Amino acid sequence: MAPAGPLPCPGAHLPSLPSLPRQGAVDRTVNADSAAQLRLLDLQAADTALAQLSHRRGTLPELASIAEADSRLGALTDDLVRAQTEVADLAREQRRMEGDVDQVRQRSDRDQQRMRAGTVPARELESLQHEVQTLARRQSDLEDAVLDLMERREGAEARAAALAAEVDRVRSERDAAAAARDAAFAEIDAEVAARIAERATITGELPADLLALYERVRATAGGVGAAMLRKRRCEGCHLELAGTELRAARTAPPDAVLRCENCRRILVRTPESGL
Ligand SMILES: [Zn+2]
Repeated sequence: MAPAGPLPCPGAHLPSLPSLPRQGAVDRTVNADSAAQLRLLDLQAADTALAQLSHRRGTLPELASIAEADSRLGALTDDLVRAQTEVADLAREQRRMEGDVDQVRQRSDRDQQRMRAGTVPARELESLQHEVQTLARRQSDLEDAVLDLMERREGAEARAAALAAEVDRVRSERDAAAAARDAAFAEIDAEVAARIAERATITGELPADLLALYERVRATAGGVGAAMLRKRRCEGCHLELAGTELRAARTAPPDAVLRCENCRRILVRTPESGL
């Protein structure tokens, strides 16, 4: 069987190809009784539902929410690590400086004890007094620096705590979206399973040549292989049949398989066809 040529999108006109014989309204390769042709519409409904379910599965709003939360969590976690590192750095710097304060204080205490003990030779006393004064200034400067570090550390700790709370909030949002996604997946998958079972029942009933024609057309016509002819209009491409095509549809025997001359889909006649 010669493969069907490329099919245009619904609504598009078939490009004129003078080298090909005109493809008529009646398919010359397949005949099928009208009950089988009508069943093709049920098969199409199942396939359309499956395509919609697949599309819905891939475009759930929860998927976008999860992706957004993941990206936000990535950035927040980076910020949190930076804030925690800053807290640790400042705490280390504070401890080091507090150690310096202790050393200065101990030295000053020692100097003052020596002076009080009266054992310092007179020639050293003046320089010792000078050192105590210098140490006092040094201690005061160091204590100011410690206070400054404590303030900075408190700020960094507050930032880290706020970031950690934000991480928790976004994480619980993400968890909620993931739970909603999983519930939607379960619902969709159950419906997919039901449609697949329905499809298997229908394909089991259809003649092989009609099914093969349907599948071939469906593969090249945007997932729609068969369309109802309703009120003289192809429901695949929504064009109205006229002229020789309409006459051919009216005069074709019931087991003839009609093809839309525009979109080449299988056209199924029903009592609503308006013929
Ligand atoms: Zn059509």
